[in-house]
Amino acid sequence: MKDLTPLIYTPVVGEACLKWSEIYQQPEGLYISYADRGNIATVLQNWPQQKVEITVVTDGSRILGLGDLGVNGMGIPVGKLALYIGCAGINPEYTLPLMLDLGTSNKKLWDDPLYMGSRRDKVTPEEELEFLDELMTALSEKWPGIVIQFEDFKNPFPALARYRDTFTCFNDDIQGTGSVVLAGVINAVKRTGIPAKDQRAVFMGAGSAGVGVAKQIVEFFIREGLTEDEARRCFWLVDTKGLVTNDRGDKLADHKVYFSRDDNDGRQIKSLAEVVEYVKPTILMGLSTIGGIFDENILTRMGEMNKSPIIFPLSNPSSKSECTFEEAMRHTGGTALFASGSPFPSLEYGGKTHCPGQGNNMYVFPGIGLGAILSKAVNITQEMIYASAVSLSTSLTHEEVEQGWLYPDICRIRDVSVIVARGVIRMAQEQKLDRELMLRDLSDAELDCYIQSRMYNPKDQKSLMEKELAGFSQANGT
Ligand code: NAP
Ligand code: MN
Repeated sequence: MKDLTPLIYTPVVGEACLKWSEIYQQPEGLYISYADRGNIATVLQNWPQQKVEITVVTDGSRILGLGDLGVNGMGIPVGKLALYIGCAGINPEYTLPLMLDLGTSNKKLWDDPLYMGSRRDKVTPEEELEFLDELMTALSEKWPGIVIQFEDFKNPFPALARYRDTFTCFNDDIQGTGSVVLAGVINAVKRTGIPAKDQRAVFMGAGSAGVGVAKQIVEFFIREGLTEDEARRCFWLVDTKGLVTNDRGDKLADHKVYFSRDDNDGRQIKSLAEVVEYVKPTILMGLSTIGGIFDENILTRMGEMNKSPIIFPLSNPSSKSECTFEEAMRHTGGTALFASGSPFPSLEYGGKTHCPGQGNNMYVFPGIGLGAILSKAVNITQEMIYASAVSLSTSLTHEEVEQGWLYPDICRIRDVSVIVARGVIRMAQEQKLDRELMLRDLSDAELDCYIQSRMYNPKDQKSLMEKELAGFSQANGT
């Protein structure tokens, strides 16, 4: 998996999407365009496979960090489903890569004679939701219980809010990311030995990702015994104008208000270095898109103020990471509890090899999908997403914990996916949203066996094929 994932998914999938019209050989998935509205159910009849368990759907409007690629974004559903197959053993025949051609704002594509999508402006948000309403119903009627995963929509929030309670769906960019970062934070906080109430988190970046991640951690702190208000007050967010406070004199964007501070006694604190001195954080998170902003001074201070500072530079790609793994380790004397959004090489430091944690969504979404499929979950709730994070945080072996890792070895991803799927199934059962009731009677060990037995394995397919071939040879006397 370690060698193959960069080929299946980022960075190579991005390159494939950029060249999709040129390298196109076969559809690879199903394309539905805005002109098909009113007839989506009929278009779905064209899919050659009888059964579909899971679909990844995009409109291509925000592919990785590459912007709007229109229908050339088909590589994303294809690649993501390949990861579901590899990491969680979803049967490849039951996957549906789905591209919605709702127009594109990328005018360069309009001029490309090979571009296969429609040359029209993006439909309005209202038209998009109306189209999605028809699609969600058509998918669920044709394949009852289908898991629908949204991916790489420019504005993913309206669809998630609209469908999360009525369909079996989730959005990996929002919920998968939240889950995987939370799992790392849970393990890091445990390692510091500092109780939630004494944690102080500075977030560089107060965009949708920063606020989303902070809210996930609030949920964790509440479960650790804090009131919501106590939990909320453990966070200090910083944006282009400095520390986010009530009295800053600008109109705060709605999503920032929840974490806005009122205890700064009129002080306006502008730079990250000043905020770090003021707050004395135990946790420093980076979701700012500003490469290198965790400089030597800031990292050194984090090391001086904490026995084990939690430092998560989460901005992607590596060039935008707030610091590198090496910088974090060197300037904190090797004490940082580190996880990043992008991969960094391991490091020889202080006579030891240190491995960086990477908050890769691949740790959770395959198990979330598998758990939802096997339990036949009615919805995928926030509680189920939270359960996936807790499960991931417990999936490390004794050796991995000893090594100081925050995430398990990606080589064990299929075992990790079993644990994540089990957590999701148990939560579905607790919430009475499961429809595969016989799984309720299984012990955890039995449930793990059941999950494994339902995972597709190419080796089984090979022996099946060999058996069939042997039978064929016998019948033909060869
Ligand atoms: P965004 O909406 O553009 O937010 C960026 C935030 O950083 C804004 O609050 C912005 O301030 C602030 N900022 C930008 N430049 C700054 C500067 N020079 N000084 C101080 N603050 C500055 O972006 P987003 O969608 O939240 O994503 C942010 C990053 O998170 C991206 O790099 C993305 O790759 C990463 N991310 C990682 C993961 C993961 O690890 N799996 C998941 C999701 C996102 P204003 O609000 O004042 O503009
Ligand atoms: Mn994505």
